Amino acid sequence: MSYFRPNIEAMASYQPGEQPRGGEFIKLNTNENPYPPSPAVIEAIRRVAVEGLRKYPDPMATAFREQAARLLGVEPDWILAGNGSDDLLTIVTRSFVGSGEMIVAPTPSYILYRSLAEIQGASFAEVPFTDTWDLPDKFDSPGARLAFLPNPNSPSGTMIAPQRVRELAGRLHGSSPLVVDEAYTDFAEENCVSLVRDLENVIVTRSLSKSYSLAGIRFGYAVARPEIIAGMTKVKDSYNCDAVSIAAATAALVDQEHFRQNTARIRATRERMTAALRNFGFQLPDSQANFVWCTHGPAPARRLYEELKNRRILVRFMSYPGSGDGLRISVGSDAEVDQLLEELKKII
Ligand SMILES: *Cc1c(COP(=O)(O)O)cnc(C)c1O
Repeated sequence: MSYFRPNIEAMASYQPGEQPRGGEFIKLNTNENPYPPSPAVIEAIRRVAVEGLRKYPDPMATAFREQAARLLGVEPDWILAGNGSDDLLTIVTRSFVGSGEMIVAPTPSYILYRSLAEIQGASFAEVPFTDTWDLPDKFDSPGARLAFLPNPNSPSGTMIAPQRVRELAGRLHGSSPLVVDEAYTDFAEENCVSLVRDLENVIVTRSLSKSYSLAGIRFGYAVARPEIIAGMTKVKDSYNCDAVSIAAATAALVDQEHFRQNTARIRATRERMTAALRNFGFQLPDSQANFVWCTHGPAPARRLYEELKNRRILVRFMSYPGSGDGLRISVGSDAEVDQLLEELKKII
């Protein structure tokens, strides 16, 4: 017999990308940043390690909220910090969706949303993107209590223009919050953060994992109107961010010069990589993220994934029912991307 709730018993567990232990791999499978974080982050961690481990951390991560608020031009009570942006996605799910209720998200997109619905005992409605990765006309599933929109999207790297997101939020207004998951926004040209001012049902979530090179630290934040943030605060663990991560994340935001150089480098490599992969015959939508989505290549995606893995290069093979399979390849350093292209040329 099983002691688990039936929905937990029935669900498949979420599969994060491979993190190989032995051996040297070029890792282009989980969208980590190839460059180190700001030296100020290391210094901040050193300081907490010496002075800050004995006491509980600040439950609201006030120093971080103040810094993020300054950058975004809002007040600190519009910000909630989380243990990675995945923590914030869990908090919004627990805040707004009960057992037996419904969550809606576009597909193909971030697979975690389904797991969050299943853990909650909620149903999950998937609405397909159009062929050009645009929003489907009927995204608003009747009765859904929460909508997720990753923007830029994964695996496509494509982006829905803020004006379109505004229209969607307007249609959902009165029935459900819209979470705009901006994990990759720092590599894009536009973002949706200004929508939270005018629309009380918009919640923007962000991550320091990718653009600030801090995937190992686990830090993200949500931006929404203060009433929404106050409600979500009731749901979060009291100490959801530890002292080390709060210090690291705050220092990372302070060093905007490092951030600008890092993200500019990634974007430049992304453009070069996109052109080269198109030359090999892959189809790639224009990416606004730190990865590219390659389909219809000169050989089957699974075979290319395997062959690259044999050559110690990890990319993400993804297969979506109804929309085929492809390779999601993170933008690495220039040297890593050169090696990827060289090996691909030999394989093809
Ligand atoms: C990476 C990712 C996240 C999670 O970011 P963390 O801050 O590392 O938890 C959230 N959403 C999407 C779409 C992502 O790709």
